[in-house]
Amino acid sequence: MSSSYFITLPDHSRKEVPAGASPLEVARSIGSRLADDAVVARVDDKLWDLARPFEGDATLEILTSRSGEEALKVYRHSTAHLLAAAVLELYPGTKLGVGPAIENGFYYDFERETPFTTEDLERIEKKMQEIRDRDLPYGRVIVPKEEGLRRYHELGEEMKCEMIAEKAGETFTEYTLGPHFSDFCLGPHVPSSKRLKAFKLLSVSGAYFKGDQSRQQLQRIYGTSFFNQKDLDAYLVRIEEAKRRDHRVLGKQLDLLSIQELAGPGLIFFHPKGALVRKLLEDWMREQYLARGYSLVSTPHIARESLWQISGHLDN
Ligand SMILES: [Zn+2]
Repeated sequence: MSSSYFITLPDHSRKEVPAGASPLEVARSIGSRLADDAVVARVDDKLWDLARPFEGDATLEILTSRSGEEALKVYRHSTAHLLAAAVLELYPGTKLGVGPAIENGFYYDFERETPFTTEDLERIEKKMQEIRDRDLPYGRVIVPKEEGLRRYHELGEEMKCEMIAEKAGETFTEYTLGPHFSDFCLGPHVPSSKRLKAFKLLSVSGAYFKGDQSRQQLQRIYGTSFFNQKDLDAYLVRIEEAKRRDHRVLGKQLDLLSIQELAGPGLIFFHPKGALVRKLLEDWMREQYLARGYSLVSTPHIARESLWQISGHLDN
């Protein structure tokens, strides 16, 4: 093994670092502001924990809060780990499902007999803040597959065992956050809990393990996080506004439309006021089509059964 590596930065400059050095140390050598704002590294085109040592000569890019979606996804997934750590500290014995970043936030699935209430979410969020302030590192541990399976089996973590059995090679990585939490995860994550500046738990709903109705029922806690409180607040205002403009609520309040159980969900019956709004919109659209050189056509609403067979609609 070489005693030092050459690291190539995006501006093509090269830095020699001792073996065992990590991207975070390179970031620090460039500037403390960069190191403080760093979220994750890209090492040879792979997203890489900032604290994970280089394994050879490599190219390096430091992703910060200004690096866009990729960094935000890592940040939000890291917040999901913080959520799970808080749940395990408050409710020992809870079993873990998966905890990915999703559009606009993240979720984590939990297996627990007692349903989580709105008050529980507030308590969990407080605990998340408390753990965040402890500035705990996201530890990365390499575990031999057999050993990991044995340990998780002893802990009764059967969902985890199933995922490890399916996805792990000879070894797998496990990430820790404090003494109560460790999870089978490919990573990467932010280097420490203190990096997570602004987060909010939003709701809880039911989910099945692997989305399969024959499997155990889980509780899915949704949340979101942003690089700063201002962005989080703006997002929360936006979803409140969207709720107030929900067509299902407004449609009822303004007597525009209804949905009849007899016909089926999502099928809209327009009432006189709603039908008039619809007509005005349709008239305007048709005018626009013609003005822009399009032609109008009209097709039947019903057709031979075999057509819906070919289209795949019939089964539904
Ligand atoms: Zn993870």
